[in-house]
Amino acid sequence: MQIVQIGKIALYQSDVLCKFENIVHGFTTRKGGVSKGEYESLSMSPRRGDDISCVRKNEEILCSELGLDISRLSSTRQEHTDNIEIIGRNNIGIGVRSDWGKGVDACITLEKNVPILCYSADCVPILMYASDIEAIAAVHSGWKGSALSIGKKTVEKLIGMGAEPQNIFVAIGPCIGKCCYEVSEDVAERFSFEFYTAKENGKYMLDLGRVNYSLIIDCAVPKENISLSEICTSCNNDLFFSHRKQNGKSGTLGGIICMKE
Ligand SMILES: [Zn+2]
Repeated sequence: MQIVQIGKIALYQSDVLCKFENIVHGFTTRKGGVSKGEYESLSMSPRRGDDISCVRKNEEILCSELGLDISRLSSTRQEHTDNIEIIGRNNIGIGVRSDWGKGVDACITLEKNVPILCYSADCVPILMYASDIEAIAAVHSGWKGSALSIGKKTVEKLIGMGAEPQNIFVAIGPCIGKCCYEVSEDVAERFSFEFYTAKENGKYMLDLGRVNYSLIIDCAVPKENISLSEICTSCNNDLFFSHRKQNGKSGTLGGIICMKE
């Protein structure tokens, strides 16, 4: 995964998705937006308390720099669930400026020129492309979504739609690292012991990125089709919003993917 400057914005892109000329994708950083204070500057979510006019401007900047049609930008109202929705021809452009998709944490579309967006600030953003059935997915996977295996369920949904695992390509974006993600025992015990380390204070350090990588591997997606960023959002708060580092008062990054004609 490498950082790329595109006009005003700086975003992370993954080699596994960059090789497809019809795919536009990236994980945004804080750089290039207009929001202020704890939301400085490219905060993507309209539901974190930021000035909505700034969020709208940030959406415009993101879509304009990536050459995407903002009127077709689609998302959901994430609530740490394992619910997955398909964005079809009749609901293009929903979720960003409407309340559609409440309690949905992953979306899939087969439609061309429909950018789909997931929001995160420490949670794991995941972008997928199933090249054989021409479908894309954007997934938000925090510890709850990870415990519910939302990433795995999204891959299974793509497989159910006709994709072969060897034709599914997955980019797991910047999230809070094991270095900074301290959790209590009741959270840690939901995961296999290989993903956390016990601390002397009775807490545990959890590797949420690896948990999600492993969930995708479980679906028989080949290792070479998956990239895992391993960049910690909390360690790099100058570049990323971090819910933990900013004590719950932060903007959100966007994971965005779009299939061109
Ligand atoms: Zn860290």
